[in-house]
Amino acid sequence: MFAEVIAIGDELTSGHRLDTNSQWLAERLCELGVTTLYHTTVGDDLDANVRVFRNAVERADIVVATGGLGPTADDLTREAVAKTASVELELDAASLTHIEALFARRNRPMPTTNRVQAMFPRGSRIVPNPHGTAPGIDLSISRPGRGDARVFCLPGVPVEMREMWAGTVAPAIAALCGPERQVIRHHRIKCFGVGESELEQMMPELIRRGRDPLVGIPVSEA
Ligand code: ATP
Ligand code: MG
Repeated sequence: MFAEVIAIGDELTSGHRLDTNSQWLAERLCELGVTTLYHTTVGDDLDANVRVFRNAVERADIVVATGGLGPTADDLTREAVAKTASVELELDAASLTHIEALFARRNRPMPTTNRVQAMFPRGSRIVPNPHGTAPGIDLSISRPGRGDARVFCLPGVPVEMREMWAGTVAPAIAALCGPERQVIRHHRIKCFGVGESELEQMMPELIRRGRDPLVGIPVSEA
């Protein structure tokens, strides 16, 4: 079972903000025994988002996206996922009540644009967002001749994303993997005073691709 992580936002593709959410999500997937094969970062453009989600569903069984669930015109994730799955967006009354209650508690009128945060692609399960407005999306997308791809969409705000991961997404992925799920362990062995190609020559079998466990040689100045 392979995963793809998608980070969405102009602030990421422009370089204004570092995408730390993808790193965090990939580490958590790894802890669940799921290998992440692709990270994709895409700006706030609907066509580009649809292309990215279509690709992801084609090449990964689990897709976890972060960002673009806000109420403004540049938040396109729910629309992009609905287009990818070829389904309509529909209103979820319970989510609308949750969002209205959140504004009421803060003594603020709810802008009409926030209503869009209660819209979900038909067939979605809803990922509750206890402390924020935007609930997340959990949608199975069918693939001809293969099992479904499972797409999870979480907000970009890191604290909300992490809470929703722990509360809903991680248990759902663990259930998907079943009792036979794998564990991925990492060990770091520090070698000093030797170049990477030299090291490779010293133990060609050890770093052979496809070997289990896999050995990688990153270089550092320190
Ligand atoms: P939401 O889905 O909650 O609306 P969004 O992407 O629309 O998310 P933004 O207003 O773009 O929300 O971002 C909210 C905050 O989260 C900002 O501080 C932004 O920099 C941060 N953020 C968004 N995506 C990431 C990411 N991939 N890594 C780190 N921080 C991020
Ligand atoms: Mg954004």
